[in-house]
This record gives sequence, structure tokens and C-alpha cells, in this order.
Amino acid sequence: MSILETLTQRSGNQCELCQSTENLAIYEVPPSEQHADKCILACQTCRGQLDGSADTDVNHWRCLGESMWSTVPAVQVTAYRQLHALSHESWAQDLIDMLYLEDDIKAWAEQGITTEDDNQAPTLDSNGTVLQAGDNVTIIKDLQVKGAGFTAKRGTAVRNISLTDNPEHIEGRVNGQRIVLVSKFLKKM
Ligand SMILES: [Zn+2]
Repeated sequence: MSILETLTQRSGNQCELCQSTENLAIYEVPPSEQHADKCILACQTCRGQLDGSADTDVNHWRCLGESMWSTVPAVQVTAYRQLHALSHESWAQDLIDMLYLEDDIKAWAEQGITTEDDNQAPTLDSNGTVLQAGDNVTIIKDLQVKGAGFTAKRGTAVRNISLTDNPEHIEGRVNGQRIVLVSKFLKKM
């Protein structure tokens, strides 16, 4: 069976991201490989935005709220990366917070994410370990959270952090609130 036939069968002949049935074709999930496990069937709208040839239509990607639960790793990876690209949208960040990927799938997904930040100094924790988006950390000293009116206690775990434009800061959810934390007061778990 060809890759296209395999994907057509797997997807029920619809876009694996947005369920459209129009203009379907193979999208090779970078780093591209000619194997059905590394490809998804996607419509022209999705493909154009994924490869950067079309402008991003933020609302189109609300479809990921459903497709990120796909059992196909290549779909999970694409959803994860695209949600990270949109993580300035609160709904996208909420979906990232819910999305759970197996370790090997997550490692694959993150290959595509760090490239934009290549020029930036790495974000380091208290031990000098490089922190990346999606890492879990613990807080190593009580931190007064400005504006939020609570103290983030030493030992609190912060899961699935995001990096910020400032290499000394990360963002994470503590007490149900998304806050900025100083990376030198954190330790990677
Ligand atoms: Zn689509």
C-alpha cells in the first residue's frame, strides 16, 4: 500500500487535523521522512499554514482541541507544535496544559520547537541545567508572587513550563494561575 493509501485509510479520507475533506494531501511532519508513521493527511488550509506558505488563521487551529487526542503520533506531534506556536492564545495554552504525550513522542515534537529561539541565551535553572518548554520544575525557595497575592512555596512542582522572551524567566501554573517565575529559583525535575 502506498503512503497515501495508508493515510487515507487511517484518516477515513479526511484531514487529520481539521476533518476537512477538501484538497487532501500528504504532509510530512518535520524532520520529514517518507513513511506513513511520519506523515499525516492534511487539507490545503492546514498544510499551507504548517509550512508557512499561508498566513496563520488562529481560529482555524481550534480544531486541534479535538485532533490532539488522536492516537496517531504524527498527529499528536503536529498538534503539539502548532499549539506551542499559538501559545500566546490562552485557549491554545490551556490545550497544551491538558495534552499528555509519551516521552518519545514528546521528544519528537520538541525537535521542531526550539529552532526559533536559537539566538537566545538558554534558560538555566539553579543548577545551570537548560530548561525547555514542557519541562517540569520545582521551586527551591518561597517566592512572593507580585500581583497575585500569594507565596509560591518552596517544593511546589510546576509542570509543563513555557519559556519567555527573557531567558531568566519562565511561565508556569501555580495555584491555578499562570505566573512568571525566575528560573534561578527553580530546579528541573
Ligand atoms: Zn485541515
